[in-house]
Amino acid sequence: MYVVGGGPGGSGAAYAAGRLGYRVVVFEAHERLAVKPCGRGVPVVGDFPFNIPGEVVLNRIRYVDLHVDGVRAFKARGWIEGVIVDKGAFLEHIFSSVGAEVLRRSKYNVRSGYARIGGDVIEVRWGVFSGGFPYYDGERIPVVQYIVDKAVDVDLEAIEIRFDTGLLGYYYVFPHGDQVEVGVGGFADYETLWGLLGRFLESDYRFRGSRIVRREVAMVSVGGLRLGYINRLVKVGEASGFVLPLTGEGIRPSFISGYIAMKALLENRDPVGALRSSWIGRAVRIQRRLLEWAKSLDPQGRRRLLLSLSPEEHAEIALGALRIPRLARSVISKPRLALSLLARILGF
Ligand SMILES: Cc1cc2nc3c(=O)[nH]c(=O)nc-3n(C[C@H](O)[C@H](O)[C@H](O)COP(=O)(O)OP(=O)(O)OC[C@H]3O[C@@H](n4cnc5c(N)ncnc54)[C@H](O)[C@@H]3O)c2cc1C
Repeated sequence: MYVVGGGPGGSGAAYAAGRLGYRVVVFEAHERLAVKPCGRGVPVVGDFPFNIPGEVVLNRIRYVDLHVDGVRAFKARGWIEGVIVDKGAFLEHIFSSVGAEVLRRSKYNVRSGYARIGGDVIEVRWGVFSGGFPYYDGERIPVVQYIVDKAVDVDLEAIEIRFDTGLLGYYYVFPHGDQVEVGVGGFADYETLWGLLGRFLESDYRFRGSRIVRREVAMVSVGGLRLGYINRLVKVGEASGFVLPLTGEGIRPSFISGYIAMKALLENRDPVGALRSSWIGRAVRIQRRLLEWAKSLDPQGRRRLLLSLSPEEHAEIALGALRIPRLARSVISKPRLALSLLARILGF
């Protein structure tokens, strides 16, 4: 069984195939895994079909510190727990747990449909494709980030999200071992985002004496699902839009999409249909509708909306797990907001 791409989507597919007893070969264009910039945050929730081992965890996240246009909305514990992973080690662990053979510096040619194994060139006829955001043909937004050390007073057990309603995006401060990742993503160009991030670092005392270790940029696919095939390979992961559009979370959705598609393929079911009807597909569709709604509001409207949500509601929306019973309860306390959310989720 063949998998193109050694990222989270490819690892989910390899994991499913390995669990079902198939031999897996993974084509990976780079020498190292996880070269693409990433915040490496993974929420710990029951829907991840793989237990994240302690040795790949850099930080355990217990708090979410959420700000809206410079005003702290809450610093809460218990609604979202998660981990910051060493993404390369995490992926290596998944592949080796099922004995997948990862061929590095081995690029699948999307034009011809061929790849090289040792001295042979073979046609890759059956499997999944998870090449990431460059192959996604929907809406993408840029993200820029610094990895810094010597920052002070940063809570290494918290992720900090700072919404900027004018930008329609957010700044984030994530721990990375004893270093810190500081970034911003949103509906602007790279130059604007670098300017914003530079000013953010200058204005925050915690980063005054810090040193920039790395500077990274990449895009995130926020346009929703683009299901289908590349040649004969089923698209999964970010290439097919498995990123939650409001948050940019892509590791868990990509892994799960790879897992679902590969399992369906091997069980002779329609993989695209399985992805479309999956809960994670539904979560992406709902968040995309909510993003469209957020785009249609002015900054004040977005601010009011973000500040009116409870930590629990924020967590459920962010995780793609908004439940109708919660909304029904909210209708009593915040009828207009809850009904608007419901309308967006149901798509009218
Ligand atoms: C700055 C930034 C921060 C982020 N932070 C987070 C976060 O904290 N948490 C989170 O969940 N998500 C985050 N994301 C999103 C997350 O990184 C991605 O959604 C996720 O990695 C997508 O997984 P994937 O397997 O689809 O693609 P990728 O991770 O992009 O992996 C694709 C792999 O395929 C390989 N490849 C590509 N083309 C070929 C080819 N032709 N032949 C062989 N190999 C090929 C690539 O080398 C790569 O290894 C972030 C994104 C950005 C840009």
